[in-house]
Amino acid sequence: MSAKKLKCGSMNISFSSGEAACHNAAMSQTKTLSEPSDFSDIREWVFDLDNTLYPHHVDLFAQIDRNMTAYVSTLLQMEREDARKLQKQYYLEHGTTLQGLMIHHGIDPNDFLEKAHAIDYSALTPQPELAAAIKALPGRKFIFTNGSVKHAEATAGALGILDNFDDIFDIVAADYVPKPAGSTYDKFMSLHRVDTGKAAMFEDLPRNLTVPKALGMKTVLLVPQNLETAIVEWWERTTGEDDHIDYVTDDLTTFLKALV
Ligand SMILES: [Mg+2]
Repeated sequence: MSAKKLKCGSMNISFSSGEAACHNAAMSQTKTLSEPSDFSDIREWVFDLDNTLYPHHVDLFAQIDRNMTAYVSTLLQMEREDARKLQKQYYLEHGTTLQGLMIHHGIDPNDFLEKAHAIDYSALTPQPELAAAIKALPGRKFIFTNGSVKHAEATAGALGILDNFDDIFDIVAADYVPKPAGSTYDKFMSLHRVDTGKAAMFEDLPRNLTVPKALGMKTVLLVPQNLETAIVEWWERTTGEDDHIDYVTDDLTTFLKALV
């Protein structure tokens, strides 16, 4: 399969997907640079946590992923390989492994969250520039995650940005129903009376931006910095219809700094 090249702002993207052409067209309509005027009405800033507030290559999720496999393996007395297959099956069918385990095995979600998030946060370092960029944004800022508050606090704390947020909406607040379920966005928006016409959402999973866009929010997709190898993964995660993505960036700090 031959790799095609796509010039996208300052990023050179290469990929070898058969869906190259349609994504090429979609990407060409997606802006990679922001201007203050684009976001001048925004007063509600909603951020996903993992792979959004810290870059994809930090790969904190790899540790969580391993912990979840171990949890399934222990719970169901399965070999690691089989446990991993089931974990991924539940993730695909239910949006999170947790939701699948709750539905099919009636597990205690708090026990699962505790064990899944028992990770080493030392890969994260304080990001004063990111903290300053978030602080400079006018209005309220939220973390909206499919993880737990404890994990969000540990992560944002290690990044030195925790104090910049008004609240964290987690999977417990969502009654364990993960994004991209519409009901979960409704819960978050109504709890905080978010004015979606003045809101922006930052996410690394394209599917989690569909509902925000439909609600009238501006949408920003975070992509990995090492696009040469990671972009195929991203294409695979998109459905081919990417018009719910307004902006794409591989550098959250630079993107936010350009807004004010
Ligand atoms: Mg994420």
